[in-house]
Amino acid sequence: MKDHAGTICEPDEQIERDKFVGDRADSPTAGSSIDAFGRTVDYLRVSVTDRCNERCLYCMPEGYKGWAQRDDHLSADEIVRSVEAATVLGFRKFRVTGGEPLIRRDILEILERIWALPGTQTLGLSTNGTRVAALAESLKRAGVRSLNVSLDALEPATYRAITGGDVVQVLAGIDAAAAEGFEIIKLNCVLLRGLNETEFEPLIAYAGERNLPLRFIELMPLTQGNVLSDPRFLPVHELLGRLSRRGRLEALRDYRPGNGPARYYEFNAAWLSHPATLGFIGALTTEHFCATCNKLRLTADGKLRPCLGRHGEIDLRSILRGGGDIAGAFQEAVANKPESHEFLSTYNPGRPMIAIGG
Ligand code: SAM
Ligand code: SF4
Repeated sequence: MKDHAGTICEPDEQIERDKFVGDRADSPTAGSSIDAFGRTVDYLRVSVTDRCNERCLYCMPEGYKGWAQRDDHLSADEIVRSVEAATVLGFRKFRVTGGEPLIRRDILEILERIWALPGTQTLGLSTNGTRVAALAESLKRAGVRSLNVSLDALEPATYRAITGGDVVQVLAGIDAAAAEGFEIIKLNCVLLRGLNETEFEPLIAYAGERNLPLRFIELMPLTQGNVLSDPRFLPVHELLGRLSRRGRLEALRDYRPGNGPARYYEFNAAWLSHPATLGFIGALTTEHFCATCNKLRLTADGKLRPCLGRHGEIDLRSILRGGGDIAGAFQEAVANKPESHEFLSTYNPGRPMIAIGG
């Protein structure tokens, strides 16, 4: 692992429970950004593209044509200037996402430059995994510490029906990442009633055998409104109920790898060869879900979003290109962070997830 002096240290292979993992311990202290509700906001999700080589049915609406023009995408320089300004305000945790970030040609340069910033403590990447097999070593070298890989099904036809892609490539990517020894590799599965319900147990067995945390994510209304009345909506508590009848669930109260919003459990059952660490992200049905929200989002076309589930955005691209106050825009976004999302009331997806960045 690189420390601030650029020397090589022994990697810490151990993912410890009861503390945050995947963080660089020696990043300097700086200002901190606290919002109107007392939450420390120090995490930025940076989307580097609104394009993708898959087309997950919950992320990209059918026939979607609202792509940002190439010129409107932030350049590598603009992304790094934005992240640097955020570090000055105390942001420490960065996750690069998309669309599919690994289809961007200068992705390694972007990651390297974010990791090289003295304020960067954690660098993560969210990916569909299809291109990880070829890139795992370069991603690790570029500074990525934590990898989130989407995996909605193991069965090839089910995976293809949901994503349009080839699960064999994803599984090869996960194997390559595991061999490379990333500090955290998390698997993400969106809960889709009637589509991938029969995949949950095989996915749990797969994750347990590889000792990779698996997170189940409630469908969010990011391509359509009224997700609660969507027949595919499956709340996390329903899966927890099912699993409690299929084995033993033990809450891991202080386990929070990668600083995300999931609640974790260890799950064991007679039918498993290894226990599995399971996370549950219930943005719609978990009470006080937003109480610990610590993040802002930067879209590929340069809009700062205080909240995934509210419409407000700040046009950082114009500020970057017009010589304005970048840090001031971040401060405004922190100040504008609402207490909670509006997924259950007035939110109507204008920008789908693919154009926001998950
Ligand atoms: N392409 C990468 C991937 O698939 O992981 C990164 C971007 S993707 C938008 C980030 C995450 O958002 C994925 O885990 C995906 O499953 C999740 N996601 C997308 N749309 C969603 C929705 N409507 N509800 C819940 N999760 C969603
Ligand atoms: Fe692409 Fe990821 Fe969205 Fe699927 S979830 S369409 S892989 S950006």
